[in-house]
Amino acid sequence: MTTKPAQAMVVTPHPDDAEYGVAGTVARWAREGKEIVYVVCTNGDKGTSDANMKPEKLAKIREREQLTAAKLLGVREVIFLRHPDQTLEDTPEFRKEIVRLIRMYRPETVVTADPHRRYIWHRDHRITGRVTLDAVFPYARDHLSYPDLLNEGLLPHKVREVLLWASEDPNYRSDVTDTFDIKLAALRCHKSQIGRVPSPALEKWLRERQQTMAEGEDFELAEAFHREEIPW
Ligand SMILES: [Zn+2]
Repeated sequence: MTTKPAQAMVVTPHPDDAEYGVAGTVARWAREGKEIVYVVCTNGDKGTSDANMKPEKLAKIREREQLTAAKLLGVREVIFLRHPDQTLEDTPEFRKEIVRLIRMYRPETVVTADPHRRYIWHRDHRITGRVTLDAVFPYARDHLSYPDLLNEGLLPHKVREVLLWASEDPNYRSDVTDTFDIKLAALRCHKSQIGRVPSPALEKWLRERQQTMAEGEDFELAEAFHREEIPW
């Protein structure tokens, strides 16, 4: 097994969540020359209100939409885990899947959904966030965690920081003023999800959302995260 190091790994529950959460920051990182990989946990095959849409067809559409958005942002690689939508569970198998990818891509920064929203929160978001945090610490770091991964050449890896989007407890705001337009364009790639939202309304909503996240900063538009450094 060869490693393919990247500076940042974005673990997203569904195709489109990363565009809402971190796309402006990803676009800025790409401009700065950083390499970013996306890990898309589910195929999003239940994300429709169209009674005539078949899950298999929707999964294919959403994969294409995600690839188009990622290309626009300058993401190096997109890994699709293709779990069915709304079926993620906190299992040893799913955790190991994420550990394997962390050890393979060896990111300094991992970005995912905050699992700790208290009330209404998509179960896949909660599970993805929690499993990814556990995978980062301690499972990816400890060499005795998965002897079989060691045998495959996937050595332990220490992630430096985790950024959690959609947090009720944000403590870090990333400047996306210069990359807002790319974030918006990437979000628009997800036509199956935002197709019915008129274009000006989407832009207005998104701009106001990122303005609110930038409150207290000396820049206009931000993506807000809960940021944790991994101390050990
Ligand atoms: Zn989602």
